[in-house]
Amino acid sequence: MPRPPARQGAGGLPGPEGYTGPMPERLILLTNDDGLWAPGLAALAQVASRFGRVVTVAPDRNRSAISSALSLHSILRLHALGEDRYACDGTPVDCVLLGVCEVLKRRPDWILSGVNLGFNLGEDVFYSGTVGAAFEGRLQGARAAAFSIHPKGELALAVPWIERFLQRWEAMELPPNRIWNLNFPQDAPKGFRLTGQDSRAYHDIVERRVDPRGTPYFWIGGDAGPTYAKSPGSDAEAVLDGWASATPLRLDLGCPEILARSKDFEATFNG
Ligand code: MN
Repeated sequence: MPRPPARQGAGGLPGPEGYTGPMPERLILLTNDDGLWAPGLAALAQVASRFGRVVTVAPDRNRSAISSALSLHSILRLHALGEDRYACDGTPVDCVLLGVCEVLKRRPDWILSGVNLGFNLGEDVFYSGTVGAAFEGRLQGARAAAFSIHPKGELALAVPWIERFLQRWEAMELPPNRIWNLNFPQDAPKGFRLTGQDSRAYHDIVERRVDPRGTPYFWIGGDAGPTYAKSPGSDAEAVLDGWASATPLRLDLGCPEILARSKDFEATFNG
């Protein structure tokens, strides 16, 4: 793999203090779960290209709500569609793995996922292929972020804020195994809010219908959409109030506050 071409200060940012020579170009792997032809992916590619070389490896169809699924029991195909642009018939996580191991053959600096059409707030981050791909990016050692927008949001209104975020996010280092989960409101954001994860309830989640041959089938989701708790400081509260929400998420789901109760645990389960 040849080294990427050098250029002055990636993304228009100044180099490290006192250094005026060329900086290696930032390598950015881009994916999503809405599929390669989604407008949100094109918007994110355009913004990202101002910060380095963008290589896109994205699913060849909509693979939303597939979380961190990995194709371990089927083959994967990768189709080169043009310079630095690939379609994969796997999941978003497959795309990240093929992007890193087959296309780039090195760790990218950034992995960006989205922009997903529809929020990824509260517990929806567990279902989201957009967020799953960002987590995989972090596991591969890259700085990683997932981007989502209100289902009727205008990408053009979010783009300047995505650019602002990408200009600055290297200045706010997260601890290991954290990613950024960004959500953008329907209208132009009032600004950024640093948020926690809300919780939400779905209604009528499994709908029974009958097909033209009289056999029942089931449709998950219903029409009502989620109700968010909108707890103070949460992603849903911020984004539904018109702010761009930036939520750090962690891969480690352990509960250190429960580990402090190990004596109770052992008395209960071992006693
Ligand atoms: Mn999606």
